[in-house]
Amino acid sequence: MTKTDPTYDVLVLGGGPSGATAAICLAQAERSVLLLEAAPDPLPAGALAWVSAQWVDLLETLKLPREELLARPFQQVRFHTAMLDKEATPAFMEPAGYIVQRGTLRNALIAQARACGAEVRSGTVVQDLAQAEGHVELALSDEQKVRGKLLLLATGHQSPLIPRAGFARPGGTAILTGQVEAALPEGKIFDEPSLGVVLGLEREGSFATYLRCGNRVAISLNWLGDPAAGPRAFAKVCKDLASADILQPDLAGTAASVRLAPSPASLALDMDTHVGKHTLLIGDAGGFVAAISNEGVYPAMWSAQLATEVVLAALNSNQSQDELMSFEQQWRMTMAEYLRPPNTDMQFLLPLVFSNQPMADRLGAAFFTGETI
Ligand SMILES: Cc1cc2nc3c(=O)[nH]c(=O)nc-3n(C[C@H](O)[C@H](O)[C@H](O)COP(=O)(O)OP(=O)(O)OC[C@H]3O[C@@H](n4cnc5c(N)ncnc54)[C@H](O)[C@@H]3O)c2cc1C
Repeated sequence: MTKTDPTYDVLVLGGGPSGATAAICLAQAERSVLLLEAAPDPLPAGALAWVSAQWVDLLETLKLPREELLARPFQQVRFHTAMLDKEATPAFMEPAGYIVQRGTLRNALIAQARACGAEVRSGTVVQDLAQAEGHVELALSDEQKVRGKLLLLATGHQSPLIPRAGFARPGGTAILTGQVEAALPEGKIFDEPSLGVVLGLEREGSFATYLRCGNRVAISLNWLGDPAAGPRAFAKVCKDLASADILQPDLAGTAASVRLAPSPASLALDMDTHVGKHTLLIGDAGGFVAAISNEGVYPAMWSAQLATEVVLAALNSNQSQDELMSFEQQWRMTMAEYLRPPNTDMQFLLPLVFSNQPMADRLGAAFFTGETI
């Protein structure tokens, strides 16, 4: 027999950076919110990721633990040519960003959502959804059903529940992404966290990003070329970085077998709408990922913050669906510039980055703050 819980103000489906941020904002506004996440919690500290410095303000608003999440700032950034024969070092007055571990960030967000009064059900898979006249109903893996007046879909990019909620997917991006990571040999440690970007891996503008932090290194690939050539290119850049003694150990073996996944980079700009019946799309589900850098954590959280402002207005209105429609305008006004691909031909720009310091600085600003080049 199935049981239906009382109706929540908002259901948030997905407890990644976007969903957990939304749950915090809604609970802070004293709305009843249920956050549903398939993964258990707490998670292990997990893979390295970088977040641009802009998120510091967001951490303040969410009252997240600064000491833990801002413990590893990086100011050292190096751009490399694909041949690794030239380098450019953009200058930053403040940290360009922070290196975090995905599990640590997620645990901090979920803990804060709970502390603010959100109900969190981890280890719960949502199997289906139905958008009725006055509410949305979710069917859970334990045969329970839950109802909310409104729904925030924060499932990540490829959930079948996105089309199920009535959203048409745009053609999809041609960008594939993947990450490999390793520990340094015993006793070795980096004094300072740093980040490097290997640019122009092929004609379309593919690039790899490497992170060095504590006793760990990570390399991720953002591949726009022939999909079949992606793993080979990933292995090559890992091998080249190791041979040039920029990043040890050599992760080529792991990279060659990694499964590259489609990235939703800048898809938000191509989507017809992010507003469905009683429903908004946020984070990767809505394609809120910066095109130039593939940065996703900060825009996921930013889109969630904007969406919750709209949701709070909708909950206070008799015309709730009309209020939800304003999300489209809100994010386009504030986030579109940041998400957009560079306004210049990168093939033309790249040689200048390695011969002209102001150009390196401008690419740095574009990569880490979304400024136009
Ligand atoms: C290889 C790789 C490296 C990356 N590196 C970086 C980086 O260094 N910096 C950066 O800023 N971004 C990076 N990104 C992008 C970043 O990870 C994402 O943009 C960000 O996690 C999006 O957050 P989200 O909350 O929207 O989605 P996700 O983080 O994908 O969270 C979605 C959540 O929804 C849950 N879920 C989905 N379906 C269901 C269901 N039916 N029932 C219950 N739960 C469900 C999932 O379990 C998941 O936890 C990287 C991405 C990849 C693939």
